[in-house]
Amino acid sequence: MWSSRKPKSFNKLALPQGPVWLASDLHLGADTPATQQAFLSFLHQAADEAAAVLLPGDIFNVWVGDDAIADPPPWLAEALAAMKAAASRLPLYLGRGNRDFLIGQRLARELGAHLLPDVVLLQTVRGPVLLSHGDEYCTDDRAYQRWRAVARNPLVQKLFLMSGLAWRQGFARQARARSMQAKRSTPLEIMDASPDTVAAALRESGASVVVHGHTHRPAHHVFAVDGRRCERWVLPDWELDHAEPKRGGWLVIDRDGLRFRDL
Ligand code: MN
Repeated sequence: MWSSRKPKSFNKLALPQGPVWLASDLHLGADTPATQQAFLSFLHQAADEAAAVLLPGDIFNVWVGDDAIADPPPWLAEALAAMKAAASRLPLYLGRGNRDFLIGQRLARELGAHLLPDVVLLQTVRGPVLLSHGDEYCTDDRAYQRWRAVARNPLVQKLFLMSGLAWRQGFARQARARSMQAKRSTPLEIMDASPDTVAAALRESGASVVVHGHTHRPAHHVFAVDGRRCERWVLPDWELDHAEPKRGGWLVIDRDGLRFRDL
């Protein structure tokens, strides 16, 4: 039973009183110019209207190490410059997703941004909000969770980062192709967040609101956990290059509550 376990401690982050904007799953890359332009507009607008911006994961479609910023391709140089400009005007928090989990302190420092812990209990004007990328809730996908455990192992990461940048980029391309194949043969509900795992996280954290991305199924779910009213807000992914209708948007947390904003 969960109640007999030692209570888990959560990293906490106190946020400003003003509006907080959250966006994830932009999957920026060389082949997403339209999505990138939408992201740049989002950052500009955030600098004028928001008090903080949180990007909980999969900002980049692939990230094989922070040394990629030493000699960035043009699209990346542009994205980094925009993030740096935003971070000079308001607090910018970067989270790690399943595609860009190798984002590290070097990138954060270069941008003047802050790294988010994988799971964080936000202290907002609306009370505690549990935030993460969301892949850790997809516990029905055993194969993915096995891969995640390996990929998140610090020693594995250290060895990977010791190899050359070009080799890592090639490895990432191959891993991506394999993952696309696995996705095609995995039933959709298996790849969604598990309600039991989400409920356990809400119990352990004491929060009644959880926010995550990853599943690309934007929604506001309302449900009960042990008779307590809980909410799960799922952030949309951004896709303005290869899909019609175009997708994207973000979540606002302010005194009035939580709500989605479209592009
Ligand atoms: Mn993801």
